[in-house]
Amino acid sequence: MQSRESRGLVLYNQNYREDDKLVKIFTEISGKRMFFVKHISRSKLFSVIQPLTVADFLLKINDNGLSYIDDYKEVMVFKHINEDIFALSYATYVASLADAAIADGVYDSQLFAFLIKTLELMEQGLDYEILTNIFELQILERFGVNLNFHECVFCHRTGQAFDFSYKYSGVLCSEHYLKDLKRSHLDPNVLYLLDCFQTISFKDLQTISVKPEMKQKLRFFLDDIYDTYVGIHLKSKKFIDDLSQWGDIMK
Ligand SMILES: [Zn+2]
Repeated sequence: MQSRESRGLVLYNQNYREDDKLVKIFTEISGKRMFFVKHISRSKLFSVIQPLTVADFLLKINDNGLSYIDDYKEVMVFKHINEDIFALSYATYVASLADAAIADGVYDSQLFAFLIKTLELMEQGLDYEILTNIFELQILERFGVNLNFHECVFCHRTGQAFDFSYKYSGVLCSEHYLKDLKRSHLDPNVLYLLDCFQTISFKDLQTISVKPEMKQKLRFFLDDIYDTYVGIHLKSKKFIDDLSQWGDIMK
């Protein structure tokens, strides 16, 4: 077992026996790990093990079993996200996507930074639906899915009114629509936006604005992409879907 200091994001905690907890933390230096906390009701760790809390942790990391939290400092909580059930449900979903995308114990500081940055932008009040789309899109390669929305599969032209083809797992320009008789008949703007989202910088995000109708089209298409290529069903995603139905009823 080795002592290490690392920034970490709490993904979730769960009860373990009467007064103990298991806490899943995505650490910057050592990937996702499960930590054991004894006597949580009397523990100074009580507040720091809440989901989506970020802190600098002093950890005892065990490669063959449970790890332990010795101490922590520099705690940061996402106050605005926690106050808004919609933002919170999207933030929870992106965190659980990161959890699903890589195995435990695998070092991935790039994904760690991307997740933290996404949450920080949600906290700042940027559009959480669009941030979630960008996260879903950019994390696809962690699931082994590489999709090119930038150029036609056949002629490699760019900047066209593309349609998506599941048969070729890529986009077709209008000259090559006929290559796939079951092409998706998508609004080309959906693919244009996804192409932007694959390479968008966080700076450009400050100015992005997408209409509700287009957001819904993005949502439907990304759901299809995840159903077809990834095939995971996260509880946190189901919650978002249910929440949006509630939203519709209230309107
Ligand atoms: Zn083409």
